[in-house]
Formats: sequence, structure tokens, C-alpha cells
Amino acid sequence: MSPPPHVLIFPLPMQGPVNCMLKLAELLCLSGISVTVLNTDHIHRTLLRRTNVLSRFSRYRNFRFQTISDGLSDDHPRSSERFLEVFEGMRTVTEPAFREMMISGCFSSRSASPVTVIIPDGSFSFALDVAEEIQIPVIYFETVSPCALWTYLRLPDLIDAGEVPFNGNDLDVLVESVPGTETFLRRRDLPSFYRGDNLANHVMQIILNEARHVPRAYGVIVNTFDVLDASVLVHMRKLCPNIYCVGPLHTLHKSRLAVAPKPTTQKPQSNVSNSLWEEDRTCLSWLDLQPAKSVVYVSIGSMARMTVDQFFELWHGLVNSGKPFLWVQRPGSVLGEYDDGQVPQYLVDETKERGFIVTWVPQEEVLAHPAIGGFLTHSGWNSTMESIMEGVPMICWPFYVDQQVNSRFVSEVWKIGLDIKDTCDRVVIEKAVNNLIHVKRDDFSRSVKALAESGARSVAEDGSSYMDLNRLVEDIKSMNL
Ligand code: UDP
Repeated sequence: MSPPPHVLIFPLPMQGPVNCMLKLAELLCLSGISVTVLNTDHIHRTLLRRTNVLSRFSRYRNFRFQTISDGLSDDHPRSSERFLEVFEGMRTVTEPAFREMMISGCFSSRSASPVTVIIPDGSFSFALDVAEEIQIPVIYFETVSPCALWTYLRLPDLIDAGEVPFNGNDLDVLVESVPGTETFLRRRDLPSFYRGDNLANHVMQIILNEARHVPRAYGVIVNTFDVLDASVLVHMRKLCPNIYCVGPLHTLHKSRLAVAPKPTTQKPQSNVSNSLWEEDRTCLSWLDLQPAKSVVYVSIGSMARMTVDQFFELWHGLVNSGKPFLWVQRPGSVLGEYDDGQVPQYLVDETKERGFIVTWVPQEEVLAHPAIGGFLTHSGWNSTMESIMEGVPMICWPFYVDQQVNSRFVSEVWKIGLDIKDTCDRVVIEKAVNNLIHVKRDDFSRSVKALAESGARSVAEDGSSYMDLNRLVEDIKSMNL
């Protein structure tokens, strides 16, 4: 007799992917599928401090966490600029451990609960190699945006055409080898690693591997909805025909959770965040005191880091704009040291007057607050989707990975914000804030609201993402017949 469906979800050990994959895990649990989420020890230790996340998952009998080593010491910072060490640790320690778990260990066909489908992060090429060996289907979950994924899948062609890598010159040259984007995608809009230096070469190898592996998988899950990424999906489907668009995942997750039967023994949970850090909710009371659509919300996500110079330029720009701002200053998000004597008194005074600084916020709730008028973001894919769904236009200041591509799509394709990439000076920021909150507000608001409505339709019953999630569930179940 075939074993019952048992999905192994294996996220990249970072806030964004862990957040998304836990949401997918919960949706699959609600559909009656057994799910194990395999996190690195480090991520799991962090989750153990987030009791709301653990207690939410503890009510599912068909869910469990399992851990695996990332090969690094407990006190390793696992910061963005040392993330290659994480990849190296995964190559030397996690890969063999994963192989053992799948072939003869706790997930193997000999175990009490064999894994029948693996859903790994798109960058885990090794997961497909192991799965092919033991003949288990893999459905990759690409937590980066589809527009960036498309530039990953085209990397072999970009290299063949001599368009990548490129150096700092001619960044405004249009790229020819990414079908569907020829009229607006410049070299500067390609993922940061394509700019070519030592670090980039390593990451490019990982992406090249990803480009070779992803089309071989049974399917690919992406966090988008059909209307948003139609222009890219039409091309991507030629390479990867089986794409499940289950986005906006945070909205689909919320709506499915709202109608799911509640366990009678437990209080329903209002906080469905998978945040790895404690959220400071005092900012919500501060927002209550601000006029509608007046506040710029500023965050560069969970990994990006700015230099001290950029930090001061950003601060001056925000203060000089004269608009209220809510700024997430994540510990460690500024690279380098500065002392308080370097901070001009007027920045301190004006910030007391109109600013609110916190270390981490409940971002989805912040974006949904009526006082928010715009989002100055690093253009991480989750942040972009969350902003779109709350109808909040953006100022994009991308750092790396998919962020350069996302910000170009925000400004040129969806026309829901401004892209200040490669410049962070006070004048540019002041001007961008004023444009976002005043001059272009109506245009941006109209476009972003239209997208939010399409996104909401896609997760409603019979909407495209609603149906794609059902198809994913049915496919997973049928793999066991
Ligand atoms: N986030 C949050 N509180 C904050 C800042 C960010 O909860 O103060 C969440 C945000 O809602 C998003 C995630 O962190 O879901 C960041 O993911 P994204 O893909 O935007 O960027 P990354 O952190 O992966 O660079």
C-alpha cells in the first residue's frame, strides 16, 4: 500500500523564505496533508522564542518541525555579507545530512512516515539530485519574485550572449536576453550578483545551478497572482510548464485561516505572523495619532545593511521632507560605527517632532494602517506584495538578490512607485518622499489599488490563486495513488 501524502518543506534559512514557507505549510495542513518543516537549528532556536508561532502550529496533529545543522557555530552572525558562509556550510554539512535523512534516515521509505513530496527552496539544487535518486517528486518554492526568477532562469542565455557579467560601466544599456522585458530592463535592474565581482561569481554558480535544476522539477510554486506577473509568466511557462501561482500568499493564508474550523479547545489567534523577532506594537498607537495617508514607513527588511553614510543621508532626506515617518532600525542594519556626537541636533529634534523609530514592527498591520501614505522599502518580494495588497505606493531602494528587478517592475511595469536604485542621497530621498506623498500620489494610488483588487480576487473562491492552491493540494494527494 502507498504511504499517505507527507510533504517535506525545506526553506532557505532567512526571515523572508521561512515566513512564506510556514504559511504554505499551514495551508497544506488545513487541507489534510501531513507536513514537516525542516529548518536549520539556528532558525529553529529563533522560532522557539516566538511562542505565538509555535503555539499556532502545535494545534495541527499533521504538522511537525524537524531540524538540520547549517554547519556554523551558534554565534555566527549569518548576516547578508557573510551569507556565502551559510551556503558553504549548507554545501558541506547540510547537504550530506539531508541526503542521509532522505535515503536511510527519518524521511526515507523505511521510516515510519516516509516523505512523498519535497518542497525545497528554489536555490537548493541538491534536493532535486537526492529526490531523483530515490524517485520522489520535487516542487520548488521560489520565494523570490517571478520577474527576478525569470532573470535567473535566463542566466545561461545572458552569459552566452555576453550580457552578463558586466562591470560598473554602461549600467543603462537595455538587456536583450530576457524575453518580455527588452524595452525597459537595464543592466542596473538585473540581480546585483550579475554585476560581477568575486562574491558575485560564487552566487552566480548557485543561480546557474538553480537555472539548470528548476525546469527539471515536477513543478514550481511562486508567490504571485496571474494578473500581476502575466507578462513574465507567459514566457516562464515555456521552460517550466507546471507553475502554481499561490500569491499573494499572506492574503490567501489569511482568508483560508479565517474560514478554517477552529479547534474548540483553543482561543482563535489574531496574530498569524511568522516573524522571527519580537514586534514592537507601540508604533500602531503612534500611527493612530497621525493624519490619514501622511506617514512614510521605512524598512530595509531582515537582512540588508546600509553604510553609516547612507544612514545619515536617509535620515536627512526623511527629516527634510517634512513628512512624518515610521522607521524600522533593525539592530545591525547599519554597517560600521558612529557616535552620537556625529548626529546633528536638528535631526534629533525633528525626529522627536515627527518621527518614530523602532527595531521591528508588525509590518502587515503597519501597512494596513490608514495613516500610512507610502513605503520606503528595500524591495524584498514579501514587502512588495504586502505593500501592493494594502494599496501603499513605494519608494524603492534595492540592495541585492531580486530587489533590483522588483524595483524596476514597481516603477516601470506596475507604475506604483519610484525607483531610486544606486542613489541614496538626502536630496533624492526628500524629493522622492514629496513625490510619493503629494505630487504623484493619485496616479500611484489608482494603479496600486487596481492591483490590490486583482490580488484580492485571485485569492477569493474560484480566483486564480485559490484554484492553483487547490490544484497543488490535489496533485500532492494524487502522487500517492
Ligand atoms: N517584516 C516585519 N517587520 C519589520 C520588517 C519586516 O514583520 O519590521 C517582515 C515583512 O512583513 C516581510 C519580511 O519581514 O514579510 C521581509 O521579507 P522581504 O522579502 O521583504 O525581505 P527580506 O527580509 O527577505 O530581505
